[in-house]
Amino acid sequence: MNVLDHPITVVRSGLRWRLVGAVSRAFVPGRVAVTIARRVYAYRWPLPPGVMEHECVHVRQFERERYLMWIRYVRSFLAGWIRTRSRQRAYAENPYEVEACERADQIAAASRVVEVDDRS
Ligand SMILES: [Zn+2]
Repeated sequence: MNVLDHPITVVRSGLRWRLVGAVSRAFVPGRVAVTIARRVYAYRWPLPPGVMEHECVHVRQFERERYLMWIRYVRSFLAGWIRTRSRQRAYAENPYEVEACERADQIAAASRVVEVDDRS
């Protein structure tokens, strides 16, 4: 299933937005966005450059693995937290976050190439 087959919703207010923010930021303070399935919960608007690309990779991960992704994500985070004793390192070293960072950079780089081509 292609991620573009379904819309991605950005949520910027509401009870669910507050709950998701409170829980996720308790584990990783300072997060500006959290993606659950196809919803991106944004805690700063507009999002900083590259964040939407990063969150779109998480949507793709969800499309690829469905709900198993959440189990694997949490398992990786907890294992990393125990191993490193650091929530920030556990977050940064989580394979899902590593993939999202790498692919977001690729998307951003590709976007820059398109932008340059449009000007010529
Ligand atoms: Zn992420």
